[in-house]
Amino acid sequence: MDSKTVIGRFAPTPSGFMHAGNLLCAMLAYLSAKSKGGKFIIRIEDLDAMRCPRSAAMDIINTLQAVGITSDEPMLWQSERTAVYQAAAQKLAAKTQLYPCYCSRAELHAEGITRLPDGGILYPKTCKNLSAEQKAEREKRVKPSLRISVPDEVISFTDGICGEQSQNLAEHCGDFIIRRSDGVYAYQLAVVVDDGESGVTEVVRGADLLYDTPRQIYLQKLLGLPTPQYYHIPLVCDADGRKLSKSEGDSAQRLLKTHSPQQIIGELAFAANILDEPKPVDIDDLIALYDANKVPKERIVFNSEFGIRN
Ligand code: GLU
Repeated sequence: MDSKTVIGRFAPTPSGFMHAGNLLCAMLAYLSAKSKGGKFIIRIEDLDAMRCPRSAAMDIINTLQAVGITSDEPMLWQSERTAVYQAAAQKLAAKTQLYPCYCSRAELHAEGITRLPDGGILYPKTCKNLSAEQKAEREKRVKPSLRISVPDEVISFTDGICGEQSQNLAEHCGDFIIRRSDGVYAYQLAVVVDDGESGVTEVVRGADLLYDTPRQIYLQKLLGLPTPQYYHIPLVCDADGRKLSKSEGDSAQRLLKTHSPQQIIGELAFAANILDEPKPVDIDDLIALYDANKVPKERIVFNSEFGIRN
């Protein structure tokens, strides 16, 4: 592969309907890659097969296709890649400490445990130094998750939209889970492995993942993978300031029943400052207009009823 080829991607988790915010993210990821003459790929993040039925994935793929967003490469389905993640975990184990964690949800959310800004917790390392006997004892009752030990190290990167970011892993992330207790590999590991394998050079995704990025960069370093250029786009809210949800009410499929793909793309492009007015447009006609600097830094207000704006 040409080392200069830009490769962007959209990596939805099919745990529900696709809403306008997801569609906006897909559109911006597509336009960003295509505006640099790059490739665009779609990956289905159905790690948790119970929560991510094929039908939901097909709904997303069909929605994307309807508005003109398709993958230039065969799609990866994370549910089929457990062996690849297992191999990556073995590689990590050779570089740093991975350890089983037997803590219950209640223990992890008990009083006194530091909360992180992303809603997670700063793991108090309860299981980090258990003896072989202690592990064997707990193993009889509990299936453990697998955590990775993080160093007291600051990870910095420049986000293409949000600017300079840094995070001390030990203080603001803590030892995190790379495999859940049910054996499913964690998003944090899978995303890094898959972006690396696909040669992804840029990641356009929602700002709700900005806080996760330093730990992903840490995993990239351990696995010898390059760090893509990140662009975290603001979250999309409705006119009342509520974050859109993956519920039927905001479903992009529903919008497609009442609006043409060009109308939807035009509305989204207007909401993202790529168009000056919400006029119907083919997605490929926006490629030449796309510029990450135009994308708002504050949250984007999008009214799924179209035409009714504050
Ligand atoms: N699968 C994640 C989601 O649907 C996005 C992951 C990513 O873009 O890194 O929210």
